[in-house]
Amino acid sequence: SPLLQLQDVGYTYGNGQRAVSGVTLNLAPGILGLLGPNGAGKSTLMRMLATLAKPTSGAILWNGEDIARHPDPLRRTLGYLPQDFGAYPSLTAREFLRYMGAVKSLPQTGLGRRVDDCLELVGLQDAANRQIGSYSGGMRQRVGIAQALLNDPALLIVDEPTVGLDPEERLRFRNLLTDLAGRRLVILSTHIVPDIEASATTLAVMVKGRLCFNGMPEALLHMA
Ligand code: ADP
Ligand code: ADP
Repeated sequence: SPLLQLQDVGYTYGNGQRAVSGVTLNLAPGILGLLGPNGAGKSTLMRMLATLAKPTSGAILWNGEDIARHPDPLRRTLGYLPQDFGAYPSLTAREFLRYMGAVKSLPQTGLGRRVDDCLELVGLQDAANRQIGSYSGGMRQRVGIAQALLNDPALLIVDEPTVGLDPEERLRFRNLLTDLAGRRLVILSTHIVPDIEASATTLAVMVKGRLCFNGMPEALLHMA
């Protein structure tokens, strides 16, 4: 069965605001680009996938198990870069990642090595001992990815990661996500079409909480 299944997933906020309606998707490893304008429900959907909000209707299955009832298998293997991710500017990247390893209750043994491996994966090895406050926006986003990779996640969720990046960093970031896919499922939310063209293997488009397209990016974006 697919790694991740969304079965008629809906979410209504406490104030009655309906943010997600009837989303059904079956996902295998690769990069799912989740495209849609502001307010389409992308962040709400990603918070549900990150087990930070429970669907108010329908179900999300990870390896065939409902995550509302059994969140732990997914949580153990989840990497999440939220839209409003903030790192501590006075810490170095290495210090921050060690701290995040403790927050995520990762084993202390081998953590230093894992931190260095993750910093290398995102190309920050040479800046590892500099304070994050001195980093560019793109470097800060790469710190965000590095912390999401600490537990070697099978599901990596990144919410609008290229907002505010310059074109060079944006390109670098897309290439990084492509490198990270492979055996992982990466879910990338964006309202920037070129982000999708460059990296997504599957495309889902949301408008007003509903899925209005799901398929090959080429089928929608008229790519060569
Ligand atoms: P995005 O940048 O994803 O479009 P929004 O502007 O929709 O984000 O929302 C930013 C934050 O403000 C959300 O994470 C949510 O917590 C809060 N928010 C947005 N819309 C409402 C609303 N109608 N009522 C209460 N809180 C809201
Ligand atoms: P996107 O990430 O695509 O911008 P969101 O998931 O942030 O979309 O928002 C989807 C809808 O839910 C919007 O109408 C937004 O205003 C509303 N919303 C988001 N957060 C909240 C919240 N905390 N309370 C009420 N409504 C919210």
